[in-house]
Amino acid sequence: MRDPFGRHIMYLRISVTDRCDLRCVYCMAEDMVFLPKAEVLSLEELERIASAFIALGVRKLRLTGGEPLVRRNVMSLFRALGRHIGHGLDELTLTTNGTQLARFAGELAAAGVRRVNVSLDTLSPEKFAAITRWGKIEKTLEGIFAAKAAGLAIKINTVVLKDINEDEIDSLIAFCGEHGFDLCLIETMPMGEISEDRTAQYVPLSLVRARLKQHWTLTETDYRTGGPARYYTIGETGRRLGFITPMTHNFCESCNRVRLTCTGMLYMCLGQDDSADLRAVLRSGATDAELQAAILEAIARKPKGHDFVIDRRHQRPAVARHMSVTGG
Ligand code: SAM
Ligand code: SF4
Repeated sequence: MRDPFGRHIMYLRISVTDRCDLRCVYCMAEDMVFLPKAEVLSLEELERIASAFIALGVRKLRLTGGEPLVRRNVMSLFRALGRHIGHGLDELTLTTNGTQLARFAGELAAAGVRRVNVSLDTLSPEKFAAITRWGKIEKTLEGIFAAKAAGLAIKINTVVLKDINEDEIDSLIAFCGEHGFDLCLIETMPMGEISEDRTAQYVPLSLVRARLKQHWTLTETDYRTGGPARYYTIGETGRRLGFITPMTHNFCESCNRVRLTCTGMLYMCLGQDDSADLRAVLRSGATDAELQAAILEAIARKPKGHDFVIDRRHQRPAVARHMSVTGG
C-alpha cells in the first residue's frame, strides 16, 4: 500500500475502546462521556478490518485506546491477531497504562506479543495520582514488572508536562536504565477539549533535550520505527531515549501509519480530520474485496502532513477529537 506521496503504509494502530480506567489531565476531561456500545465495533469486526489491512501489506499492528486492556475479552482479539504473526504480520504490540498488565502479561506473551509501551509520567505516587486524576502508581509499576517477568520488552512513554514532571526526566532515565527499559518522551498535543489550559502544559522537548545533554551522553542513532520518534542512545545506561516532538519538528515525511478508531473510522493522519467510515462499509455487508477497496481509497487520501498548532487566542484544540479516540 503506497500513499500519493510514495510512503509505504505498513503500520496500523487500532483503538479498541474509547474507555479508560484513568483520566490523565492532558488526555481526557474528568467527566468524559463514552460511546454507546452499538457504535463500537465488535471484536470480530475489529479482527476482520485488521485482517484486511494485513492482506493489503500491513506488517505491524498496535492495539491502543482508551485503555485497550479494559475492553472485555480483548485477549480473544490478541489471540486472533497473533495467529497472523509470521503470515504477513511481523509484530503485534500494544500501548497501555499498565493498570491491568499484572493480570494479562502472560496471556499477551502467549498470544505472540513481544513488546509493550507503558505510559508512566512520573515516579512519584502523589504526582501520579494528580496526573491520572485517580490512578495508583503501584498498580502500573506492578504491571510493568509483570510484563518484564513475562519476557516482554518495555518502552516507557512519558508526556512531559510543564512544572509537573519536567524535573523528573533524569530519575526516569535512571529508572529505565536500571530495569532495562527504553524511554520515549512526548510533547503534549492539542487534541480534544480537556478543561485545562494546553499552553500551560506544553514544554518544547528541544529544551528538555538540551538540559539532559548536560548530565547524559546522548548519541543520535539512525534507529527509526517509521514513526515520529527520534532516538538517541544514552551512554551511561546503554538504553534508547526517544523524543516525539510533533509541535517542534515535522515528522510527517517518513509517516508509515494510519489509525482506526473503535467505531471503525480510519484516520489517515493523527493531526487531520479526514477519515473513512469502515464500519459503514462493513455493516453494509461488504465482501473482503470491497472492504479492501474502501481501505485503498482512503489511503489514496492520506495527507502530506499535520497542522498542529495551539490556537492560543481561542484556547481551542487543533483537533477536536481526543487522543483516546485515535489512540495516540
Ligand atoms: N491508555 C493507554 C496509555 O495511556 O498508554 C493507551 C492510549 S493513550 C491515548 C496513548 C498515549 O497517548 C499515551 O502515552 C498518552 O500519554 C498519550 N497522550 C494522550 N493524550 C495526549 C496528548 N494530548 N498529547 C500527547 N500525548 C498524549
Ligand atoms: Fe487513559 Fe491513556 Fe488517556 Fe491516560 S493517556 S486517560 S491512561 S487513554
